Amino acid sequence: MKTYSIAAIPGDGIGKEVVAAGLRVLGACASRDANFQLSIEEFPWGSDFYKQHGHLMPEDGVDQLKNFDAIYFGAVGAPDVPDHLTLWGLRLAICQPLDQYANVRPTRILPGIESPLRGVTAKDLDWVIVRENSEGEYAGQGGRSHRGLAEEVATEVSIFTRAGVTCIMRFAFKLAQSRPRKLLTVVTKSNAQRHGMVLWDEIAKEIAAEFPDVTWDKMLVDAMTVRMTLNPGSIDTIVATNLHADILSDLAAALAGSIGIAPTANLNPEGRFPSMFEPIHGSAFDITGKGIANPIGTFWSAVMMLAHLGEAAAAARLMRAIERVTANPSLHTPDLRGTATTQDVTEAVCAAVLGDN
Ligand code: ATP
Ligand code: MG
Repeated sequence: MKTYSIAAIPGDGIGKEVVAAGLRVLGACASRDANFQLSIEEFPWGSDFYKQHGHLMPEDGVDQLKNFDAIYFGAVGAPDVPDHLTLWGLRLAICQPLDQYANVRPTRILPGIESPLRGVTAKDLDWVIVRENSEGEYAGQGGRSHRGLAEEVATEVSIFTRAGVTCIMRFAFKLAQSRPRKLLTVVTKSNAQRHGMVLWDEIAKEIAAEFPDVTWDKMLVDAMTVRMTLNPGSIDTIVATNLHADILSDLAAALAGSIGIAPTANLNPEGRFPSMFEPIHGSAFDITGKGIANPIGTFWSAVMMLAHLGEAAAAARLMRAIERVTANPSLHTPDLRGTATTQDVTEAVCAAVLGDN
């Protein structure tokens, strides 16, 4: 029997609630499956840690994570700590050194859940967004001069490298090729951003030549929001920059019913470092402590984690359990216009995992 070591970082706000729920569900998956066990270690990093220590995780935090098989993450951010500090101090401080350059965000309308788009069903909306996760607009380069003066200037520099863009593009083409429709849309803003985005267009064309069986097209990001809303069935796999894909994936999650449902994998595809799995939503302090956070995005992230660990049967079993629960409207949380609690959903998913044949 294999034992996988998982580092759990619940973080802040509802991150703590949904990761606790996710760990219960993962426990049910491990006890249902004779092939593997999970050894979980929790790390209390995030905004509370910051208030005590002045940083969001210890200086050797990344080293502490390096030998785990995977990282299960909640959310980071608190109302009384600036957002850019929390994002850079924890999430990006883990993703970047662990070379998790491919951020993968599936979106699908799950059974029992209604899209806000009239008449749109799972057959029209079944997408995967690939987000470049280590450079671009989040390269962290730039600065400010003449602070506070009328002449103040701030620059925010996007960095695109041939190596980085090639890696994410090849990853996206491969992923599109593995899906039934073999369809990829490369999203840029190369009409207005004439350096990095034009490099994306050029590299897309080069990599496309390696994948003659993948049908692909290019789209400007503004037009893409319209296409996602008005013609969702024309889309399958999307690849976009760090910022563009971040925005498109919130839209995708909302079109699929709720931001509370959507999962993310931050992958180091070569497996040199652990990959990290988390819901796409944030710490949501407006609902923290109420017990009503939708844990489905965190459960679906656990599906991606199990699949990444090589436990395909357990991953499929957990996905079936999630779908059995979403199919029942009395188990919908308030973000889906239901009255169920996080705990109701968690217990139902655990029971469905344990009862699955
Ligand atoms: P952050 O800065 O950490 O991203 P945020 O408040 O800007 O936090 P989210 O935390 O993603 O963004 O929350 C956006 C909205 O979606 C909030 O109204 C929140 O309550 C809601 N929301 C987010 N996640 C969930 C969830 N799992 N279940 C229910 N509602 C959610
Ligand atoms: Mg947010």
